[in-house]
Amino acid sequence: MKTLTTLMTAALATLASAQDITVIRANAEPAKPAPAENFTGTVRVERLFGAAEPARISGGLVHFETGARTNWHTHPLGQTLFVTAGVGRIQHWGGPIQEIRKGDIVRIPPNVKHWHGASPDAAMSHLAFSEQLDGTSVQWMEKVTDAQFDPPAPAPASTATAPARSRAQQLVGDVAPKLAELTDGVLFGDVWARPQLARRDRSLAVVSALIAMNRPDQLRSHLALARQNGVTEEELSEVITHLAFYAGWPSAMSAAGVAKEVFQKP
Ligand code: MN
Repeated sequence: MKTLTTLMTAALATLASAQDITVIRANAEPAKPAPAENFTGTVRVERLFGAAEPARISGGLVHFETGARTNWHTHPLGQTLFVTAGVGRIQHWGGPIQEIRKGDIVRIPPNVKHWHGASPDAAMSHLAFSEQLDGTSVQWMEKVTDAQFDPPAPAPASTATAPARSRAQQLVGDVAPKLAELTDGVLFGDVWARPQLARRDRSLAVVSALIAMNRPDQLRSHLALARQNGVTEEELSEVITHLAFYAGWPSAMSAAGVAKEVFQKP
């Protein structure tokens, strides 16, 4: 019959083993080919350590051969990458492709659709750390196409033979040539040029209107134009904050997102 003492000894032993330090030896688990349904090209994964309750973090080392990449995917609690070798690429949905190199650390926020992988002309390896939520740390999506992985370089803006096209002509000239003509000739050629109001002040008025109407596409180019017209980033931030009280919080929040994007460009 077990006495209280033996029960307590057993309980303490269990507690002690749960608190033991674990050393997982090098190459404990050899690299395995990554599942083809979630990756393109040759990818090997070394699963380094799994999540140990109550901790939720797990880690692995992933090797991408030249041209290889993940599918599009998200992580419920985000992911941190540490590039251990080579040159690779990472992109979030709708964002620019960013080059990553040995020694770089990448933080991917929760639920942001993205992919990562090698370069078209170089291999890349990274450590990947992520935390589980409800037993999973990744949500796999569609493949990254060749065109998404390595998009063709944009054509030069103008050539020696063709005259430079205005921004309005580039944007809408093909579908609405008269609108492009009015934009260039009347709006920018006349209204914006009138001396009765400084271009800087016109920029403030237009930016304010676009924030209030929640028009992120037009706001993007007008924030850049406002900077050219002498409005500082600090002043533009102040306009956005001020308008939260007049135009509504959501309009100001989406404007702040656009401003962040514009201000990051030189
Ligand atoms: Mn990821």
